[in-house]
Amino acid sequence: MKNIVKRIIPDFMRQQLKDYIKQNLKSYAEEDSSLYKENPLPFLLDSQINRLLYTLFRPDPADAFGRNRYVVELFKDLSEKHKLIKKAVVKYSVYHVCIETSSYCNRKCQYCHLSLLDRSDKNDKMPISLFARVIDSLAEIGFDKRFSFNLFNEPLSDKEHILECINIVRSKLPNSYQVLTSNGDFLTPDYLNALLNSRINELVISVHYDGMFNKDAQIKKCLSIIKRLGIKEKYDYQDIGAGFILVMDKSVYNSKYTKYLALRSEDFEVQGSDRAGVLDKYVRKVPANSVCPGVMHSINISHDGQLLPCCIMCSDADSLKPHIYGTVGNDGDIFDIFTNAKASLWRKRLFAPQDDIALRPDPCKFCGSLSAMTQEDCDRKFVLRTLLNKL
Ligand code: SF4
Ligand code: SF4
Repeated sequence: MKNIVKRIIPDFMRQQLKDYIKQNLKSYAEEDSSLYKENPLPFLLDSQINRLLYTLFRPDPADAFGRNRYVVELFKDLSEKHKLIKKAVVKYSVYHVCIETSSYCNRKCQYCHLSLLDRSDKNDKMPISLFARVIDSLAEIGFDKRFSFNLFNEPLSDKEHILECINIVRSKLPNSYQVLTSNGDFLTPDYLNALLNSRINELVISVHYDGMFNKDAQIKKCLSIIKRLGIKEKYDYQDIGAGFILVMDKSVYNSKYTKYLALRSEDFEVQGSDRAGVLDKYVRKVPANSVCPGVMHSINISHDGQLLPCCIMCSDADSLKPHIYGTVGNDGDIFDIFTNAKASLWRKRLFAPQDDIALRPDPCKFCGSLSAMTQEDCDRKFVLRTLLNKL
């Protein structure tokens, strides 16, 4: 039996586990503790599993997910639970909300879903009433974390619409951190000025390319964009390995809110992903074996109000449609959908072991967004799976 326990609970976790049991199950006399020393898992209550999950997901104290007191609930179907519980789960779990404010992009980059989907002839803007409905929900929990206006769209293609969306977020989520990424094609000096005077905290111009990535050519493109926007060429060059970022010096633009203005270009031969199994490029050769924290801490909403498991999925890709958790309105609000049976099952299936890849959702099997695991990650995942099997 001891060997089984040793296998189930790696050394680094065993003492913690015993401590939690001792702390939380005081009614067990010391002599009875031999029972749980041999086989502690049957004695664990949800609250203790929660503490363990909390510990396991707390390698980085700055990580908002590490502060989640409701992590265990992410793996349960909360459909029948009171709305307050669902709200608490979202409040303490989610630190990034991405809303695709429209469906249109003028480009078809080879590393994007839009290389296969044609969204260039339609511009389905998210209706302001739907956008405001989602923001109202977030306002109910005082959402104060990262908020993005992108998925697979060019948010600046409709100036009036995006500025209205930014204003809504500004007034209803005043403590959130607003982020906007654009391909820069629609930007003019005046438009840039309007954005810098809105409540955008971070504005990133993603500088794209056709064919192969060429660093020098991309830097030249960045410099011509800077010139077109009428700002001075004063920036901090940051090498990010497969690409670079030019972080504009604060002295070259005037804004009370924007703390970060940058141009970014990445080599997608290295950084790209197969977009949840949709592209036949950028496919990983080995099964992904990591956990996917994104499904715990982000809410991703398409232009028509559908909640997706992650930000690398596009709601219009046929193969991904079955994985959509639900639609705001038809299936309740964001709290109902983020905590429903489909979402919780998806999260549990992501913890399938590497040798049981069939259990994992198809888009996740070779997901390039997942990094390789260290031995400690493997131990952590092993404990997690054991704990989750008890739920
Ligand atoms: S990567 Fe961005 S700019 Fe390129 S097609 Fe996709 S949404 Fe448009
Ligand atoms: S593993 Fe990849 S495809 Fe699956 S949910 Fe996470 S990011 Fe998305």
